[in-house]
Amino acid sequence: MGNMDLKAEANAGGESLAAKLCAACGMCCNGVLFYGTRLQPEDSIRSLTALGMKLKRKDGEMQFLQPCPAYKDSCCSIYDKRPQRCRTFSCRQLKALNAGESTEEAAFAKISEAKILTDRVRGLFAQLGDTRENKAFARRYAALLTPPLDASPESERLRQELQVAMSELEAMLAANFRTEAIA
Ligand code: SF4
Ligand code: SF4
Repeated sequence: MGNMDLKAEANAGGESLAAKLCAACGMCCNGVLFYGTRLQPEDSIRSLTALGMKLKRKDGEMQFLQPCPAYKDSCCSIYDKRPQRCRTFSCRQLKALNAGESTEEAAFAKISEAKILTDRVRGLFAQLGDTRENKAFARRYAALLTPPLDASPESERLRQELQVAMSELEAMLAANFRTEAIA
């Protein structure tokens, strides 16, 4: 979702730093960082629906759900028509780079670190029987911990491992990628 100048260059097809970073990451579009994001007054429900976005009303407000169907081949396929929140969101890594407070190497290292943690969580989801890659991490996690639960020792062990892995991932994302309230 990141909107920073760097990412704009990325989607304009340039070989910018953000192009490389966001292509290697994708977490603000693929359901790892976000589950649902509020639409803004500038957004057209009709247009976004026609573009294939998954929209849902929650607490009286319309949200678009992730993983985003417009995220294709490591890029936003509707960049010029993306929702307003996608235009204004900037993750901590892009903010730090744009402010000259970080380096390319440091940003790639954080993305790699996050990838290892997400792969670990994804693997545990699968071991617990959830291979729904079209659902956000938060939703998959909540579903696997909602009763009725398989009481076998193996499932119990995997759930405990998942709770540890998810908590490490969340702490890492909060410290290095999230910049504001999720929605
Ligand atoms: S519309 Fe584009 S920028 Fe926004 S979440 Fe979807 S793929 Fe990402
Ligand atoms: S979380 Fe940051 S680095 Fe990752 S894709 Fe989004 S804007 Fe790019």
